[in-house]
Amino acid sequence: MTIISRRGVYLPSHKKETLRKPIEAAGLPDRLAVPLFIYGETDNPCVPSVCEDDRVRRYDTVGVFASGFHAVAPADGTVREVREIRGLPYLLLEVDEEQGEPSPLPSADPKTVLEKEIFEMANRAGVTAYGRPLSEVLDTYKKKGVTCLWADAICEQPYSTARIELLRTRGDEVAAGLRLAARAVGAQAAGVLISAFCARGLPEQVDGLAVEKVLGKYPVQERAREELAQSQGELLDAGALLALYEAVALGKGCVEALVTVNGNCVAAPKNIWVTNGTPVNDLFDVCGLTEEPSCFLLGDALTGRLADRQEPVALGVDTVLAFVTDRIKRQACINCGRCMERCPRKLYPTEIARALEAGEDEHLLRLHPQYCTGCGVCSYVCPVGINLTAKTKRAARRVRRLLEEEELAEARRSLPNAAPEDKGNAVPALGAFARDDLFDPVGCEAEEEQVEFWKKGSPSSKGKKKSKAKETRKPASKQPVKKTAAAERKDGKGTAKGKKAGKGEKK
Ligand code: SF4
Ligand code: SF4
Repeated sequence: MTIISRRGVYLPSHKKETLRKPIEAAGLPDRLAVPLFIYGETDNPCVPSVCEDDRVRRYDTVGVFASGFHAVAPADGTVREVREIRGLPYLLLEVDEEQGEPSPLPSADPKTVLEKEIFEMANRAGVTAYGRPLSEVLDTYKKKGVTCLWADAICEQPYSTARIELLRTRGDEVAAGLRLAARAVGAQAAGVLISAFCARGLPEQVDGLAVEKVLGKYPVQERAREELAQSQGELLDAGALLALYEAVALGKGCVEALVTVNGNCVAAPKNIWVTNGTPVNDLFDVCGLTEEPSCFLLGDALTGRLADRQEPVALGVDTVLAFVTDRIKRQACINCGRCMERCPRKLYPTEIARALEAGEDEHLLRLHPQYCTGCGVCSYVCPVGINLTAKTKRAARRVRRLLEEEELAEARRSLPNAAPEDKGNAVPALGAFARDDLFDPVGCEAEEEQVEFWKKGSPSSKGKKKSKAKETRKPASKQPVKKTAAAERKDGKGTAKGKKAGKGEKK
């Protein structure tokens, strides 16, 4: 499949450093920070089902989202606390030195499993795709009437090779996952898409499904989606498909992902299996560093976001990078026009940034920043180093808020017996937008607040006694449930932005 795109850019490639190299496992760290949130889903809060000092086994449910999706314990251990970090809830787990058998999950024969069971098993095993619960993605495709489904192993950014390596080493399972997903959607399993630049050494078929190459300028994945949509086709992340197969056929929880670790100060770049919630730092214990990095990126070079070394690597992150860099000194725009010329969405990034900074809302609405995909091309091509992606994303949030306010005002005006609008009071923004800075991380902008994921004095593996793996667990009925602030807000009990997760009420 050849995708021809005059917009976008050809990117340099650093893939050969990790392609076709042996895959390793990062091993279990002594502590994990398990995210109890889904980015962007403010109306889908998670209610933790465990509390401090509870013992959990691998694959136990540690929280249930409003949509029915489960947060799953990635390892045997002891719950230390559930708390919000930068406004987002995490479960902090101290991991046992010795790991036992995981909690069994329901499984079924992939050939006879029912469509409804596929959704349930994906939810119970905590399988995600593109940062959302897989069941939600499948449901969206089903409602859209998707007729053919392709496994997405495109890996188009400079460093990531994780999906390609999944295909190379576990292609049959990815294909089996694709067939399950296609059955759930009511579509046909069409094949696998890869970038033509990574095709060397890959078979032309996996388990009877064609492996097709896509060729074109970055972002080619988005262009592939547009082309597929014309014949009711869609893409689905190869990592999620493997996890779906394991959930249904083997009753395994989705607790680890293959991650590419690379960067200009990484001694031995590798693809490694990383457990959900592992601190960034631990990945570089495996790959080694040649010098102290000046920044870490969660995600690939164009769309990743800056992270600090304690931050956990959550499921869905397929690349972690470390760089020693003198970041480009930003200068004023020289009006070269490259950002506009290369933007695949035909946006005008420099003008969007100017209108945002000048507070020109009317003009900003006409520039449509909400159609930005966050691909990072504009920042990449800017010769003076202006972070246009971050500015366009901020402008997009501003415009969405303005449109919501407009919609709300319109709805109020259309109400019978509507009171005349009070010109003195602005229509309040919807609650869902109160924390959008936190639910939609801005690419390559440093967080101002430095946070400690683990408070000083919290136990570490050094000096930690052997855990009592067989310790009796509290009966569920006696466990106090501590709700996150997001869950409380959903119940109407919480207050606005920044509220910390309170101590649990005892039932
Ligand atoms: S990040 Fe947004 S504005 Fe920049 S090139 Fe991509 S789509 Fe265009
Ligand atoms: S690429 Fe940079 S310098 Fe050129 S017009 Fe855009 S913002 Fe200005």
